[in-house]
Amino acid sequence: QEEINHYRNINNISVVGRHVPNPARAFRDFNIDEDIKQNLIKCGYTEPTPIQKQAVPIMLQGRQMLACAPTGSGKTAAFLVPIIQELKGPQKQGFRALILCPTRELANQSQRECMKLSEGRGFRIHTISKIKKALTQYGPKSSKKYDILITTPNRLCYLLKQDPPAIQLSNVEWLIIDEADKLFEDGTRSFRDQMKEILVACDNSNKKIAMFSATYTPIVAKWCVHNMKGLVRVTVGQKNA
Ligand code: ADP
Ligand code: ADP
Ligand code: MG
Repeated sequence: QEEINHYRNINNISVVGRHVPNPARAFRDFNIDEDIKQNLIKCGYTEPTPIQKQAVPIMLQGRQMLACAPTGSGKTAAFLVPIIQELKGPQKQGFRALILCPTRELANQSQRECMKLSEGRGFRIHTISKIKKALTQYGPKSSKKYDILITTPNRLCYLLKQDPPAIQLSNVEWLIIDEADKLFEDGTRSFRDQMKEILVACDNSNKKIAMFSATYTPIVAKWCVHNMKGLVRVTVGQKNA
């Protein structure tokens, strides 16, 4: 245990929560399939970043998490790797992972990284680019041949507000909130209201939430404490609260 604490210290990782899994030292320590490790190498990554070392084992255990780490520290792969591992391959159950981002540009970027890290698995990874098309694409009569949705919250809530809802989220197993500090900051109230609508739609009893943020902010932390059972908090670098 002392050795683990030392390893966290030298990597600037701090954790709060019960029974937090140990950080991984290398990609080979990740409890994931070989093809994903190969895809990480193909991306040119040789070693996990500190947030990846700690966040990946936590998510692989199905724990809900608030992860704070600076911009550029590899948070995207930290949540994509466990999702790819857990979803295994494409199915016809509708979206099983939902990733919320503050901007469409970021959604597109994360989609590209997701395609690289899941190469060979055949996932259908969607962003909502044309709202008109989306209105008919995901309805109850659709094929449900899609697995991962990466979107901004406005568009998603627009689809959810249709009568009947133009999208079903009942099979979502992982809900990721990326750049949470940004999402909660602009129009704080409105994102919290949107999250209420989204959580009602994500009614799978096994659903887990993971929140990623560049900075530690009290508003985000408070939301997590209220909405995420068994929460683990991970911070890399300075805690600027
Ligand atoms: P953040 O979301 O924390 O701002 P990103 O996920 O956008 O960071 O990653 C920042 C950059 O680091 C990207 O170019 C990404 O490809 C790269 N990256 C991610 N993980 C690793 C790694 N393990 N080793 C080297 N580079 C990495
Ligand atoms: P985001 O900020 O998530 O990228 P936008 O603001 O571009 O989303 O678009 C989503 C919002 O715009 C929805 O809340 C919806 O009310 C409105 N909207 C977009 N397209 C249409 C449309 N074709 N018809 C009606 N409203 C639309
Ligand atoms: Mg990011």
